[in-house]
This record gives sequence, structure tokens and C-alpha cells, in this order.
Amino acid sequence: MQIVVDLNRCQAYAQCAFLAPQVFELHGEEALMFTPTVPDDQHEHVRRAAAACPVQAILVGERAGP
Ligand code: SF4
Repeated sequence: MQIVVDLNRCQAYAQCAFLAPQVFELHGEEALMFTPTVPDDQHEHVRRAAAACPVQAILVGERAGP
């Protein structure tokens, strides 16, 4: 699973960092860091985080194969 966060949209609400702390991390008030390639055990957390983002800034994509 691959993710992209539209940082122009992101308002640093930190919902994602709360729901998937191993993938999203807020540094300071505004700087969101994230892991673009999501480990298998984090997929469900990331889906929840994407659904919870108030501005739909998290784009989730599946990528087949290695
Ligand atoms: S939940 Fe959305 S708006 Fe909030 S920090 Fe995450 S990506 Fe940004």
C-alpha cells in the first residue's frame, strides 16, 4: 500500500497521527511526516486515518507485485 498526503490540504488536525502513529507523525504544529510505503500490519490503521481526515488529504493506493 502506498500513500500520499496532500500537504496543501492538510491542516495538521492530527487525526491521522492519532489513528496510525506508526505511519503519520506531526512535528511541531504544521509539519506532517509520513511513511509513503505502508507496512502490511498498518493497512487497516491507515484506512481509518484516511477516512477520518477532515479534509481528505490522505490518498491511498494499492500497488500490486513487488
Ligand atoms: S488528519 Fe488530515 S489534516 Fe489532519 S494531519 Fe492528517 S492528513 Fe493532515
